[in-house]
Amino acid sequence: MEKDQIIIIGGGLLGLATANALLDRGEKVLVLDKNPEVASAASFANAGMLTPSQSTPWNSPSDIAYILSGIGRKDSPMSVSFGAIPSYFFWGLRFILNSTPSRFEKISKGIFYLAKHSKELTEKFRLKEEFSYDESTNGTLKLFRDRERLQKSIALSDRIYGDSNAINVLNQKELIELEPALSKVRKGLVGGIHYKDDEAGDSYKFCKALEEIVRKKGGRILVNTNIKKILLNKRRVNSVVTDRAVLQAKRIIVCAGSWSPTLLKELKIKIPVKPVKGYSLTYNTAGIRNTPKIPVIDESIHIAITPYKNRIRIAGTAEFVGFNEDVHPKRFNYLNSKLNEVYPSLYSTVKDDEEAEIWFGFRPMSADGLPFIGESKIKGLYLNTGHGHLGWTLAMGSADLLADQIVGAETQIDSKPYQANR
Ligand SMILES: Cc1cc2nc3c(=O)[nH]c(=O)nc-3n(C[C@H](O)[C@H](O)[C@H](O)COP(=O)(O)OP(=O)(O)OC[C@H]3O[C@@H](n4cnc5c(N)ncnc54)[C@H](O)[C@@H]3O)c2cc1C
Repeated sequence: MEKDQIIIIGGGLLGLATANALLDRGEKVLVLDKNPEVASAASFANAGMLTPSQSTPWNSPSDIAYILSGIGRKDSPMSVSFGAIPSYFFWGLRFILNSTPSRFEKISKGIFYLAKHSKELTEKFRLKEEFSYDESTNGTLKLFRDRERLQKSIALSDRIYGDSNAINVLNQKELIELEPALSKVRKGLVGGIHYKDDEAGDSYKFCKALEEIVRKKGGRILVNTNIKKILLNKRRVNSVVTDRAVLQAKRIIVCAGSWSPTLLKELKIKIPVKPVKGYSLTYNTAGIRNTPKIPVIDESIHIAITPYKNRIRIAGTAEFVGFNEDVHPKRFNYLNSKLNEVYPSLYSTVKDDEEAEIWFGFRPMSADGLPFIGESKIKGLYLNTGHGHLGWTLAMGSADLLADQIVGAETQIDSKPYQANR
């Protein structure tokens, strides 16, 4: 056991990015994960979009109405199961209290500053380390079938992101010029927004490269290691109890995604973070001609369609069902129906692909939409968790922010909105 080593619990996007940022500042790190492989939870097959342009929390009044309309339903993109309602009750109240227009705008700005910082760091890191994760840098495209919604989205972008967000409003013709694969459905579209600064990529591939880079820099990563408990000594962290051994550490970082509250509960730290289950479906597109080139977001229903090299992924849906691991065919039918709505020709080509990858993950969703980054009320215990639907977008920036705080350096952006003690 290395002296002064920082223990990081969780080897997803946040844990690995944090390890890398700390190594760059001369710290020693040990990442522990309960799964047999890193990035096998929420960071595995997400939609892969790096979208500062989508820096809004999910508790806008229209989203809340949408969630409530899905109670008990499996055919809706958002659903709440009756059985899970008690476990979401207090979190849900805070979620709703944070949905006032002024809170919504303040939170959105907080997410945006971190997302912008994060995207810049992701880009720099990719160029410096020279690795590929099926990244695309041609922006993202939001589709609209309703003029009013398009106008609202433009106004929201202007208010929250100002001039710094490179947006291009497209009419129907321009939309098809940018993404010819949409030509079959052009009649149903009133226009779109091209967010030129957004990127996309395969977050699992990114994590695997990050794992290698962390090891090369001298960091250690142990998988198949379940943390049972964090032990304290006089209100300071002292060690972690794993299913293999007790490991001493003066500094511990919880990056355990949706499982973070469970680890913290015993220490009487309550963070309002709950799992929100989402699904993705990935089809093989090798050999298919005229496949889409640009990641697309469907405005109102939180569906994303991301083309990768030889693959296409449809992701979305939100289930408030705790850690329920049941797989509902209706969810996949829903994702398929959306692929059919946006790219009917492609759908009819891939729909019988028996090898399509079906996946679900639990987004670690905070009640106010902002992550928890920084030292907790316990000395030496840090958090980097609660990134919800934007963990890939926010990973590198959050890691940078926390690493600066840990080594006592000046942070690149204001750390207050994300305080772990709020
Ligand atoms: C369908 C879907 C689509 C998404 N699309 C996007 C997108 O397009 N863009 C975007 O920015 N974000 C997206 N997200 C969100 C993003 O995937 C998550 O926010 C992000 O992966 C969270 O990373 P994490 O490291 O916090 O958690 P995780 O990746 O879940 O990692 C947590 C790790 O902690 C480990 N762990 C937990 N408890 C313990 C313990 N006791 N001991 C040891 N290890 C432990 C787990 O095994 C796990 O590996 C999407 C999510 C979903 C579900």
